[in-house]
Amino acid sequence: MNTPDIFVATCDLAGQVKGRGAPGEAYGSVLRSGLGWVPANLGISAFGTIAPGSAFGSTGDLRLMPDEATEITIADGPATTRLRVLVADQTQADGTDWDCCPRTFLRRAISDFREQTGLRVIATFEHEFVLEGLPQSAPFSLRRHLDADPFGPDLLRLLTDCGLAPENWLPEYGANQFEITVEPSDPLTAADRAVLLRELVRDLAIRRGLRASFAPLQEPNGTGTGVHVHISLVDDGGNPVLLDANRPGRLSEVGSRFSAGILRHAEALTAWTAPSPISFMRLAPDRWSAGGIFLAERNREALLRICPTSSAGGSAPERQFNLEYRAADATANPWLTLGVLLRAGMSGIVGGDEYPEPDVFPETAGPAELNDVPRLPATLQDALLALEKDQSVRSWFHPDLLATYLAVKRHELAHVAALDDAARIKAVSDVY
Ligand code: GLU
Ligand code: MG
Repeated sequence: MNTPDIFVATCDLAGQVKGRGAPGEAYGSVLRSGLGWVPANLGISAFGTIAPGSAFGSTGDLRLMPDEATEITIADGPATTRLRVLVADQTQADGTDWDCCPRTFLRRAISDFREQTGLRVIATFEHEFVLEGLPQSAPFSLRRHLDADPFGPDLLRLLTDCGLAPENWLPEYGANQFEITVEPSDPLTAADRAVLLRELVRDLAIRRGLRASFAPLQEPNGTGTGVHVHISLVDDGGNPVLLDANRPGRLSEVGSRFSAGILRHAEALTAWTAPSPISFMRLAPDRWSAGGIFLAERNREALLRICPTSSAGGSAPERQFNLEYRAADATANPWLTLGVLLRAGMSGIVGGDEYPEPDVFPETAGPAELNDVPRLPATLQDALLALEKDQSVRSWFHPDLLATYLAVKRHELAHVAALDDAARIKAVSDVY
């Protein structure tokens, strides 16, 4: 078998996977010294045009420094080896950190979190997507599961072979919608897996004569397609610290403070976690995506859902108990998504009285009790304004990264401004 070529990948501010390739023979030198790269990559919008106002112009050079631990081989059956893909940090020319690299942003958030709280984070991204090219079928149905054959079993094998640790593969509720979950891991691995998973799903779909779309909506009144981020916390000894059976929702004090940070900064966070021009059409009440800024036990309308645990088969609840952030979608960069959630949660944990413990709405809370919960921003425009106003969230970013992000997102909004809802959804779906 010939040596497979290499692709060294990063993920940009539009959540798109970019990078450079090299022949397999160059593997050793690429691992050592990376490949050339340009800062201007961050100023390109989801629609492929450079955003006016990007901090990065015609000058400047970077390296894409691959992280050996992330390597996967995309093969299609045992006889073919197509490509080795490695996820990279964007670094300065000498290999040191570049302050605007989204992966570096997450790495720093992880180490600050550990330093400031003494705790470690365990996370996973749960992805929904739509498979175009299949017959209509009932939500959750075996029929849909079978109609996706051989895509489904092939996807599970591919993700397993790539070390992405698939957990569940299921026919979802929305039209032609599916969901894939992977095992929880350390946060950098979780986000790297999210970056790779979307591309693996899209690529396999193409090779099976289908098209996978991760766009947050396919039609104005259709079901949303989300990304839910599951987070738990453990102490130095690896012991879970989120569960306290004697407190509301069984959420420990540290879990409650972590939640306080996310709720307090939620409006600005959504500018990072649900950042396409159609993302906020999904994030409306009664869509079972996230209908408001609140923390609740087992409620799919909550921004932060306290997930159920099961005692079936004698499983212990502590390790299952986790918080689910529901206002994310696959138009967001996974490193930035998890990075901002960790920074917000950390602010809550160390922020003392500034972050009062939030209400935990019980599973029984109905529309009357939830009537007064704060709403999420109604549009991406509103979320960007909230981000500009939130000094804490702004302070987490290098000014060039923040300015470029705002420029890219406003450029994307301008790109679809003249379109009606259906055409706007199509424009976004075409590139996700
Ligand atoms: N499809 C819903 C969303 O947009 C989520 C449904 C579920 O809880 O799985 O987030
Ligand atoms: Mg789902």
